[in-house]
Amino acid sequence: MKNILFTLIAVSLIFASCKKDKNEQEETPLPMAEGTVKIAKWQGNKRAAMMFYFDDSTIGQAKYGVRIFNKHKLIGTWFVNPGSDYYKYNKEIWEKESQEGHQELANHTMTHKGAANNQKAEYEIGEASKIIWKARGEKEFTSLIAFNRGGGTSWDNISLKEILKKYKNIDRVTTKIGERMIGWSVPKGSNAATMLKNYPKALQDSMIWMLSFHGIAEKNGNPPMDHGNGAVWVEHFKTFAKKVEKLKADFWNAGYIQIYKYIQERKTANVNLLQYSNNKYAVELKSEKDAKYYNEPLTVIVQLPKDWTSCSVEQKGAKLPHTIKQGRIQFDAIPNGEKIYIRR
Ligand SMILES: [Zn+2]
Repeated sequence: MKNILFTLIAVSLIFASCKKDKNEQEETPLPMAEGTVKIAKWQGNKRAAMMFYFDDSTIGQAKYGVRIFNKHKLIGTWFVNPGSDYYKYNKEIWEKESQEGHQELANHTMTHKGAANNQKAEYEIGEASKIIWKARGEKEFTSLIAFNRGGGTSWDNISLKEILKKYKNIDRVTTKIGERMIGWSVPKGSNAATMLKNYPKALQDSMIWMLSFHGIAEKNGNPPMDHGNGAVWVEHFKTFAKKVEKLKADFWNAGYIQIYKYIQERKTANVNLLQYSNNKYAVELKSEKDAKYYNEPLTVIVQLPKDWTSCSVEQKGAKLPHTIKQGRIQFDAIPNGEKIYIRR
């Protein structure tokens, strides 16, 4: 009799667990998870981050800068003036080629002339935003855009904050990015060694290494000039780009908005590790930020028992690329999605 009872209980338990397996959301995790989970400081668990600003959409930036960055699989943040003759001259490069290399187009206002009233400011900021969304292949108002108002321009009596908010622009000057940064405006005529001088410090302190460029000149001169802008010589810039490509082993290279979003999401994130059995875990990844605009993947690191040598990582039935080494599993996921299941 006892045996029959036990069998009945066992069978019903099996049924119950089968039922639950069909809908994993309802499964109750074990009270204790054998393992830990954390979010990496930088995407890809790189040691530091690097970003490069280019202001004014100069001729040399389009003709050389964008193409050299595309070639070396580097990402720059290009603050363009879509209403300027410079921009229009290289419209194809700005709106097509730059996007093929995933370059970040950013708002430097339509004409770099400032604005004397709110109507003009809406045009300077709003029109440029619309052109950028279009080049990105996105609907208007659906993604964040980095912004820089331009040196020497006047915005007196302008509701700048409201207009930037309306057009989802993030001002690179007044916004606190949320991590320490070593930033530098590259002096005209700099060679590659000068451009590179700050990266060891950034790497050592796990900071953001930022360089702000102006022109890129075809000919070397004293100083080299890019159609009226003091610049760096293209040959020096090529040497710089070649070296920076190698630095990607240690640095996460991304556009301003990607880095900004990553930091904001990470700082407001809540990550939990759930254990269902010795072979099945899940990660819950939430962030307080609005998922519509803050969708940069966070790098999650899960430490499970060291005898785990292979596993699957899945979200919503789709496999997520991952690495695993002695039970240490690393993958990227966008917060506020469904649970991520890890199975041995
Ligand atoms: Zn400028």
